[in-house]
Amino acid sequence: MSDDATADDVVTAAEIATHLECPRKYEFDHERPLSPPKTNRNRREEHRRKLLRDSIIAGLRLDTESPDERAETARERFAELSGSSHSSVLVAEQARYDREAVGAAIDAYFHGDGQEHGERLVAADVTLGYERGGIRYETTVDAVTKTDRGHLAIEYRPTMQGILHVSWNKDDNVQDFIEEKKFYPQQIGSFVRAAIAICGLTAEYDLTRKHDFACISLLENSRPAYETGDEIHVNPESRRFRSAYQDERDDLDKLVADRAAALLGDETDPRDWQFEEITDRSCSYCAYQNACPDVLESELSFTDRHRAADESPGQTLSHESSSEESQ
Ligand code: SF4
Repeated sequence: MSDDATADDVVTAAEIATHLECPRKYEFDHERPLSPPKTNRNRREEHRRKLLRDSIIAGLRLDTESPDERAETARERFAELSGSSHSSVLVAEQARYDREAVGAAIDAYFHGDGQEHGERLVAADVTLGYERGGIRYETTVDAVTKTDRGHLAIEYRPTMQGILHVSWNKDDNVQDFIEEKKFYPQQIGSFVRAAIAICGLTAEYDLTRKHDFACISLLENSRPAYETGDEIHVNPESRRFRSAYQDERDDLDKLVADRAAALLGDETDPRDWQFEEITDRSCSYCAYQNACPDVLESELSFTDRHRAADESPGQTLSHESSSEESQ
């Protein structure tokens, strides 16, 4: 842990998740904020998640025993938010399909687990946190509901993209990441959010209960119902993290503490981490890609390595590389 750490230090799950993808990206996002030229894909995903979660929260907050009323309120909220949106990021036909898919997802959710989540709602759009080693760890969740075993923190998402696929069998997801056997930082970031939420529930509600964290993907497996014409089939999916968290708690605690120390110690040079994997994977979807000195430098050194190999003694320049250099 950094010697600089004090009780005033706050580290969020979102910061750790970004640092896992690339420490430089964390620096651009949080320490010397740049405005990335967001792609349409970035905008559309953010927009979609926000509309979905805000609409679902409106339905959850309603005091009613009727799933229909919750779904109606959520659909109205969605229509209101969609109407007030000035970001025309979808073409008309795509936007119509998206609206109908969201409506179907809202219905499916509130006629399933959503009714009980609303009836047992404790808080919505809330920050959970706890202190350890002089640092306060925090994460924001969309809802907290009571269960028979404790509390459940929920994050609503359009799809499970970037969310760790947890199984009932014991896995070594975090150990594999720490030991650099696998590089899947977004998925490990989702596990970190789950761990911080579960610890936050334990600290804020009851040390003795079995709290859990769930990602609920509302539009997973949405598809047109070809057999009935205009309808859309949607199959929301829920992923619970408690079991995996218990299995991998020691590795998760170590990862969270190490990355918190790195954040607080200003360790933001990607070369000190899994730089090859970062340039292979994280750069491809990073909004800073066009302006980032690290990726430009790595591309130049990649070109230099190839040029050196081509020009090494005993090798003849290929026709393609000769013509490329002459251009
Ligand atoms: S472009 Fe690559 S190296 Fe640069 S901040 Fe983004 S992920 Fe990191």
